[in-house]
Amino acid sequence: MKASQMLINTLREAPNEAKIDSHILLLRSGMLRNMVSGIYNYMPLGLRTLKKIEDIIKDEMDKSGAQEILCSAIQPKELWVESGRWAKYGPELMRLKDRHDREFCLGPTHEEVFTDIVRNTVKSPKQLPITLYQIQTKYRDEFRPRFGLIRSREFIMKDAYSFDKDEEGLEKNYKLMYDTYTNIFTRLHLHFQPVLADTGNIGGNGSHQFMALSDIGESTIIYNDESGYAADQEKATSMLDGYKGMKEAPIAKVSTPNVRTIEELVSFLNEPSKNMAKTMVYHDFMNEKFILAMVRADKEVNLIKLVNESGSNENYLKLATDEEIDSLGLVRGFIGPVGIDTKFDIYVDEELKDMDGFLCGANEADYHLSNVKYGRDFNGKVCDLRLVCEGDLDPISGKPLKQARGIEVGQIFKLQTKYSEAMKCTYVDEDGKNKPMVMGCYGIGVTRSLQSIVEQYHDEAGIKWPINVAPYHCAVVPVKYELDDQKDLSDKIYETLKKNGVEVILDDRKGGLGMKLKDWELIGLPYDIIVGKRAIEGIVEIVDRQTLEKSEVAYEDAIKTVVDAVKNM
Ligand code: ATP
Ligand code: MG
Repeated sequence: MKASQMLINTLREAPNEAKIDSHILLLRSGMLRNMVSGIYNYMPLGLRTLKKIEDIIKDEMDKSGAQEILCSAIQPKELWVESGRWAKYGPELMRLKDRHDREFCLGPTHEEVFTDIVRNTVKSPKQLPITLYQIQTKYRDEFRPRFGLIRSREFIMKDAYSFDKDEEGLEKNYKLMYDTYTNIFTRLHLHFQPVLADTGNIGGNGSHQFMALSDIGESTIIYNDESGYAADQEKATSMLDGYKGMKEAPIAKVSTPNVRTIEELVSFLNEPSKNMAKTMVYHDFMNEKFILAMVRADKEVNLIKLVNESGSNENYLKLATDEEIDSLGLVRGFIGPVGIDTKFDIYVDEELKDMDGFLCGANEADYHLSNVKYGRDFNGKVCDLRLVCEGDLDPISGKPLKQARGIEVGQIFKLQTKYSEAMKCTYVDEDGKNKPMVMGCYGIGVTRSLQSIVEQYHDEAGIKWPINVAPYHCAVVPVKYELDDQKDLSDKIYETLKKNGVEVILDDRKGGLGMKLKDWELIGLPYDIIVGKRAIEGIVEIVDRQTLEKSEVAYEDAIKTVVDAVKNM
């Protein structure tokens, strides 16, 4: 392609909305254009990269035996009512009506549609197992769209759904998809880490997220290199580390006048916060009640764990306000479980149960209680409730855990029979009985992956595309295309590269070399071949975008370097 005929639209400055490097660079390189908040248009260079990423995903999905289909983005309300999600999904679901007042949504995901297709087409158990997938546009009216394609309101997802006769089949398919995802993200050159993920109300150890490692990631990964433990913070657990070694002692009232916060308690009593417990009050709007959650005072409550334990919903469980706490008759700053465990549901982190005794509020202004023991002094539901952070103990090795940030580029999930039961997606087993199919679902954020690559591969000058997803492999840049010797050699290199399967741009635009090179550095093609004064001798300069290293070489060698790189990509 000749640059003079291309829609290249690089920008010196990024629009204000862009806050992170990858978003800035995708906009500045002209690959992406913003339309309205969280909604983007893909320009020619951006679309080429997008298609290459999709091709890699398709190739690996096809290899796994999954079959591609394409569903409608518009989904009828009735399917969502059947699964029970029409009411639950909340404001993220983009809903619309047709002229007859029939209700629809723009699909944020496709469990209902795939389940409907399979229940209507798969008649015999002999047709199982089956895995179907699609690459398609999804819609989520995100509360806070941000970071460009990382969290947008319209995005492209690869979603797949497997249907098996039994758990054993699901296990096999899950493992197959885990390996397929590993292959995909490896081929996308992402530095990534699969982590254990929360499964919400479905339970079990049935989900992994694939995290692209990045400081701008919204997810926190908790891991230990030696043991191999890695989990999303929402899911992560730790070895119990409750303070032990105290003598059995009766509960005692401690005067703590006006000492309300943990920090104040620590300095007032000169005791470490890990010997204390804190009791948090939550308003569960879904079940319309207040619940209490207790963790060691130096830790925090993991809201997702509390949601799962209490059967509430992430969007409907909030810390109680001061007014609410007052109206419950609780004394702010001095709340504790003793004496009120029959009035409230108390969720107690298992670490506290493990302790010989701890200090907590006395439910009386200016007093705390020491030597409080679970089971002896109060009761509640013991569960894993703590938010695990760096320095907590690895559940496998007991050594300290580390913390890193990641962008969730994919998630795989054992759905089991959640949808097949609700939507009657069944098969007749050998014993003549109707059984629900056992399902798995598997998503990849295609456009989020694209931007994650940029986040991991860039420098101040621009993007540094891995060669297999670069929009083109090489630019041939004559210094003065109007000079015959430079034109002749540039054309020759351009034609030879094309013939050898290299995707190449000839920069025949008017303008200075500096401007042209800046464009290519920003766009981030793996190689530039500069044809200048020494064209007459057959000498050119080749620039490697990964290092920005320039070397003068015979033009044949420059061609060979690029052709070899493309062959080996
Ligand atoms: P998140 O927790 O980031 O909101 P999710 O867990 O709700 O994502 P899934 O339902 O698992 O997302 O969707 C599958 C994949 O789609 C995700 O792993 C992610 O890569 C991508 N994805 C989800 N939401 C968005 C979005 N708003 N913009 C871009 N990609 C997204
Ligand atoms: Mg997810």
